Amino acid sequence: MAGENHRKLEVGMESIVRSLRQDPYALETVYLSAIAFAGRVKTIAPLVELPLFYPPKLPLGSGTSLGQALFHLMSEIDRNTIKTTAEQKGDWKPMVFLITDGKPTDNYIPAIRKWTDEYQNKATIVAVALGRYADLKVLKELTENVLLLEKTGTEEFKKFIAWVTASVSSQSKSVETGASDKLALAVVDKSVLQLVDDLRKFEAFDPDSVILVGRCQKKRLPYLMKYEKFPQELSGDAIRIDTSYFDFSGCYSLEEDYFSWSDGTPTKQTVNTSELRGAPGCPHCGAQVAFAMCSCGGILCINQPGKALCPWCEQTVQFDNQNEETSMWVGRGANGS
Ligand SMILES: [Zn+2]
Ligand SMILES: [Zn+2]
Repeated sequence: MAGENHRKLEVGMESIVRSLRQDPYALETVYLSAIAFAGRVKTIAPLVELPLFYPPKLPLGSGTSLGQALFHLMSEIDRNTIKTTAEQKGDWKPMVFLITDGKPTDNYIPAIRKWTDEYQNKATIVAVALGRYADLKVLKELTENVLLLEKTGTEEFKKFIAWVTASVSSQSKSVETGASDKLALAVVDKSVLQLVDDLRKFEAFDPDSVILVGRCQKKRLPYLMKYEKFPQELSGDAIRIDTSYFDFSGCYSLEEDYFSWSDGTPTKQTVNTSELRGAPGCPHCGAQVAFAMCSCGGILCINQPGKALCPWCEQTVQFDNQNEETSMWVGRGANGS
């Protein structure tokens, strides 16, 4: 983490500690520790009870060693928590806020496997992605509790920090009063922090993929077509030409609520359809072509050339045999505004 997010998180940790110290339940039950990870991983504040915890300075560094960070976290959990046995009541389940704004730069797969095999019942990870660059897919492999703070402005960050504080408070209250280990996160302000429950709703912004949203002519329901970038370059002595294209990778049916999860602002990026290879059929009705485009810009399914009723603009449109040479420009991302 670098730049603004780094500074805001440092200030945020001070605010979390200050607020929690006002909370009698938290003072009774909360222990805190901070582990920083960039290219390297280190415990920057060892586990201590809340009154003794001082928010550390966060180190700056390049890289996002998620795999190393998880291995480190697991050894810290082993070292510092007391397990419940027949003779003693151990510690409550640790709650880990994993906050990242990057994509993993090390091999994270063995660490995630070890975590899901051996630790996911011993501790709870709440992963928070700061901005769209973070890899939501990897975080989802690690935990079901993934949240996205899409905008990281001062106001949004304040609300995010308040939510972390409230979640720790409510967790400490629930263990103190209800003797429960169940995760008790605070209520999320959806305009700031979104729960990543279904990855497909969030995939539209990956720069290495193109997502197109169409609507079935018959059932009128939306579907999503995904193309993955296939990097390719032609090079000669004095010239390099990017000849990358996007390969078809999947077509998924969606429910109408897809649009309530999209933020409604049309994305400005466009993709030339001549860069797209491969076309699916419609996942709702089985029509042969899921990729026909109306003059309104909406994508719909058609089975044969001829007249069609566009489910986006309600106009009748005429489709002639597809011209292979034509390259249409279509909007990229959520097409539902
Ligand atoms: Zn259809
Ligand atoms: Zn239309």
